[in-house]
Amino acid sequence: MENNKPIPTNTKKVSCSGDSYSKHPHIYLKIAADKKDVVCPYCSRTFTYTETKVK
Ligand SMILES: [Zn+2]
Repeated sequence: MENNKPIPTNTKKVSCSGDSYSKHPHIYLKIAADKKDVVCPYCSRTFTYTETKVK
């Protein structure tokens, strides 16, 4: 199963609880101000920040 697709988010604070069958606590991840994505240390999912505003 593909598990590493970037997950778009329009907030810099994301929560991840992984798959129900994995030992994955419900955690919150913060995208740093100078970065556009964050990788969950438990399931290696990438959350990519996407601005809702269009320039
Ligand atoms: Zn995760």
